[in-house]
Amino acid sequence: MRRPLGCNGKPGDSGRKAHARKNQPPCSKCKEASNHAKRERTRGQANPRKVHPCGTPAAARRHRYNDEPLDFACKVAEATYRAEQRKLATKKY
Ligand SMILES: [Zn+2]
Ligand SMILES: [Zn+2]
Repeated sequence: MRRPLGCNGKPGDSGRKAHARKNQPPCSKCKEASNHAKRERTRGQANPRKVHPCGTPAAARRHRYNDEPLDFACKVAEATYRAEQRKLATKKY
């Protein structure tokens, strides 16, 4: 059972919504379908972890984290990023 179905026979949040429209509390089936859909959604957002390519501050951080030597592109990116952060920090309004 991968996607639980609500009592309307559909996966996702639609069963719970149908109950809500009728001012009913969702039944256990629809609750489960709705929770599952929510879980799927959050996982879907969290899952695509794209690896930042070299030449970005994030890649430089990854190199440090993995104890890898920093390549030129990443060194430049990190230096630029730090300079920008410094500029932002000292900016007066
Ligand atoms: Zn239901
Ligand atoms: Zn790199």
